[in-house]
Amino acid sequence: MSKKGIIVVVSGFSGAGKGTLMKALMSKYDNYALSISATTRNPRPGEENGREYFFVSKDEFEKLIADEGLIEYAKYVDNYYGTPKKFVQEKLDQGKDVILEIEVQGALQIKKKFPDALLLFVTPPSAEELEKRLRGRGTETEEVIHGRLHRAKEEGQSIDEYDNIVINDKLDECVDQMHEIIQAAHYTPDRNQGFLSLLKSQLAEFK
Ligand code: ADP
Ligand code: 5GP
Repeated sequence: MSKKGIIVVVSGFSGAGKGTLMKALMSKYDNYALSISATTRNPRPGEENGREYFFVSKDEFEKLIADEGLIEYAKYVDNYYGTPKKFVQEKLDQGKDVILEIEVQGALQIKKKFPDALLLFVTPPSAEELEKRLRGRGTETEEVIHGRLHRAKEEGQSIDEYDNIVINDKLDECVDQMHEIIQAAHYTPDRNQGFLSLLKSQLAEFK
């Protein structure tokens, strides 16, 4: 089995429940490291700098880009979001699976740069439930909710680029499903090339 950590990209419509799922996954299983992104958006009530995000100014974000400190970044409904490089590399080297909870444009950049990355797309059971959750969260203005639902329509077009879909209906079941999918990814031939080439060279010795 591959001992190397895998980059796991988790995308999904705003309000699908990614943040809730990630918290539950991290508290139930200890083999994951959750990457903390940098963003130019304002903190929501209850969010802390360095916990949910590194909240930075536009100038600071542009400096991160210029210094090549991000492995991907994208603009999402008027704000920049990006993944700091250092943390991801350190955790992968320690054998952790690193989770990037990022939107579609960033996910596709990761797939290009790291073909071994596993791409998961989280959806609610229906579009109606999505709107209900987004409004129910009560953290965005009507204008922002409208922008995010519009963006969801666009993002729906990219789901086929992902390796797996995860339907977030019952939270507990969804967390376990996600864990199983990630663990199974450690057993694919393309993520075990070192082991397989050794095995093949041993087999070649048979007369
Ligand atoms: P995202 O991070 O994808 O934008 P959140 O994790 O903030 O979404 O979840 C959006 C809202 O939906 C929150 O109010 C959350 O409590 C709720 N929620 C998340 N998962 C579920 C679920 N499985 N069933 C019902 N409500 C959920
Ligand atoms: P929110 O403002 O709701 O926290 O996040 C908005 C969107 O930005 C979500 O789809 C979230 O997954 C995405 N996002 C968060 N961090 C990053 C990041 O580092 N890179 C990219 N590309 N998207 C991100």
